[in-house]
Amino acid sequence: MTTNPKYIFVTGGVSSSLGKGIIAASLAKLLQAQGYRITIQKLDPYINIDPGTLNPYEHGECYVTDDGAETDLDLGHYERFLNVPTSQANNVTTGRIYQSVIDKERRGEFLGKTVQVIPHITDEIKRRIQILGNSGDYDIVITEIGGTVGDIESLPYVEAVRQLEWDLGEHNTCVIHLTLVPYLSAAGELKTKPTQHSVKTLMESGVQADILVCRTEHKLSEGLKTKLARFCNVKKEAVIESIDASTIYDVPNLMLKEGLDKVVLNQLQLKSDVPNLTTWNTFIERYKNPKSEITIGLIGKYVELQDSYKSILEAFIHAGAENEVKVVVEPIHSEYLSESNIDFKLGHLDGVLVAPGFGERGIEGKIDAVKFVRENNIPFLGICLGMQMAVIEYARNVLNLKDANSVEMDENTPDPVINLMESQKDVINKGGTMRLGTWDCKLDKESIAYKVYKSELITERHRHRFEFNSNYKEQFETAGLKPTGYNPDTGLVEIVEITGNDWFVGVQYHPEYKSTVKNPHPLFVAFVAAALKHSKKK
Ligand code: GLN
Repeated sequence: MTTNPKYIFVTGGVSSSLGKGIIAASLAKLLQAQGYRITIQKLDPYINIDPGTLNPYEHGECYVTDDGAETDLDLGHYERFLNVPTSQANNVTTGRIYQSVIDKERRGEFLGKTVQVIPHITDEIKRRIQILGNSGDYDIVITEIGGTVGDIESLPYVEAVRQLEWDLGEHNTCVIHLTLVPYLSAAGELKTKPTQHSVKTLMESGVQADILVCRTEHKLSEGLKTKLARFCNVKKEAVIESIDASTIYDVPNLMLKEGLDKVVLNQLQLKSDVPNLTTWNTFIERYKNPKSEITIGLIGKYVELQDSYKSILEAFIHAGAENEVKVVVEPIHSEYLSESNIDFKLGHLDGVLVAPGFGERGIEGKIDAVKFVRENNIPFLGICLGMQMAVIEYARNVLNLKDANSVEMDENTPDPVINLMESQKDVINKGGTMRLGTWDCKLDKESIAYKVYKSELITERHRHRFEFNSNYKEQFETAGLKPTGYNPDTGLVEIVEITGNDWFVGVQYHPEYKSTVKNPHPLFVAFVAAALKHSKKK
């Protein structure tokens, strides 16, 4: 639609956790709904190469793209809002930037020059920002800069933005600065000073914000907007209020009301139109007006942190709207589950999801949970480690292999029903070495999965090292736990189901990563439908 791609930069000031990712995704939605081809990229200023090795306590969920990048969870929001897949190029960290520069230095590509932050690191940042724009696939690239302006580690990124503004010329870039306008209850007032200071910090690095998005708990008066505009050197219509919303899915409409899309398009000298948000608004209608309610237990070991299972929670929102049912997700800590309290903790649930995970902590509780739902015919969805737990539970309690386990938890188990994948046996490095990204899966026509996907060949995203041990396949099948999905090339088991139960499905892959507002994931939709049916039976 445009000849050269335009670049929008989103920076943050005053405080972290203001929701830059949601603002970026909401703006992208509004622009996409006017016909522009959009992508969003996140630059993370930490030194890890990617968040794949980070603990969820540090960084929330690790999101996985089709091409197998382990990324920041904001990429999940981008995909859920835009329904356009992201890739390795959509998430860049300082670690990755330095690694490329240092590799280049070792190859002698700097021809004897001293390698420095400016220009070498900033050039690499600028190159990474423009990879998506240069692909020809997008009219506009939105780049979200992680962290807060003024942080030492953000400086090279802000400098790269400053340089790019010069390189690309007027009307080809736009800087949106997201800040906090706090309310001081003792004074009974909203305060603009922190915003003034953070805009000033940005200016010290040579970057002038074009638009301010002000996160606030109270409405900004016209007077306050005028004051912010005057002190921060922006037009009054470029002071955008971002009031706390009850759901992130309201933010695109809130930004539309504030005219964020118009100011951005005006700054970029692009045509603005009325965005077509019909599908989006139908989803919101259904989400906000459920006809019934169900409760699903989410069993994991990081349940106290709402960001750890972000994509699963969002997939339930999409699937709930699709079924016109409110899905209440009850977080249940697997470490505190045991046979003695299981009925009390799970008995009232309409469905149970056992979450992905790594390591031994909390796994016995997960196994107890699977036993309970299997015996009580409660709809079950096991994802990755959750599927592996279902296999171990069946081995122990139905096949009578009392010490069956995954070799991840017990290397010397006599019955390694979950085994290390052959391709993982020589792997030493932890970072980026799992079986990652999209792989094919062929479905058995006589299965719940086939009914759900309505297709024999599917592709789903993965993140694991261990797999169902096919040596036990016949034993399981005879006893009623049936592999129903396989990788067509390697035979790796991707799905197991219990034929005698109403809805019992374990998947080695992560369906949650592919659920979007436009395309709620069929497996979550079917699981919610099964839980709804179960709730009506109770
Ligand atoms: N730890 C298991 C494996 O590596 C499961 C991984 C996951 O749940 N993502 O196979």
